[in-house]
Amino acid sequence: MTENTGVNLGVLGKKSSRRSGAERVVNAPLPTVYGKFQAIGYLDHDRGDEQVALVYGDIGAENVLTRLHSECLTGDAFGSRHCECGDQLASALRAVVAEGSGIVVYLRGHEGRGIGLLAKLRAMALQAEGLDTVEANLALGLPVDARDYGVAAEILRDLGVRSVRLMSNNPRKREALVRHGVQVAEQVPLLIEPCESNITYLRTKRERMDHILPHLDAVAHGS
Ligand SMILES: [Zn+2]
Repeated sequence: MTENTGVNLGVLGKKSSRRSGAERVVNAPLPTVYGKFQAIGYLDHDRGDEQVALVYGDIGAENVLTRLHSECLTGDAFGSRHCECGDQLASALRAVVAEGSGIVVYLRGHEGRGIGLLAKLRAMALQAEGLDTVEANLALGLPVDARDYGVAAEILRDLGVRSVRLMSNNPRKREALVRHGVQVAEQVPLLIEPCESNITYLRTKRERMDHILPHLDAVAHGS
């Protein structure tokens, strides 16, 4: 009877085979142009996303140099100059190799600050017409930032990490991680030289989303 099943689930919930959270499912060596990483794959049972953490060297538990990189197909794979994501990913991978150890968690489901690829492309089309990145999301009836960092915190905990030096310019990312129980010992700037195509986008991030981008001061305001 379905009624009984419901009752039993309440009592035996912990014995159910249904899992929640991020489950580590694979650990594979991944040689890259930056160095030899371990690609540790997770299945997020809550959201259904497949996630991967690239781990370099002997990371330890404290003050681990870490990047939580939000998936950006256009920036990471196509080399888009609309944003600085591709350069930030490369810089983060180089940084952990230079450090001798560290982690880059590549967060799927974060495309367009969590609105998805097609919505991001629609937002980019609106930006080509003069809206900024915040206005574009709002014009589509979408949140400015819908990203969740719970799974990132779970992955870090699974890797035995208690505190990180977080490579990010985004204070909200730091706050989110702390809220999910991972200490942030330091926020390490990840500043990419701006170009003509992304300077407006970067200024919007600074002015409307509180990103810490002091290097933009050196770039003259154009038309
Ligand atoms: Zn991007």
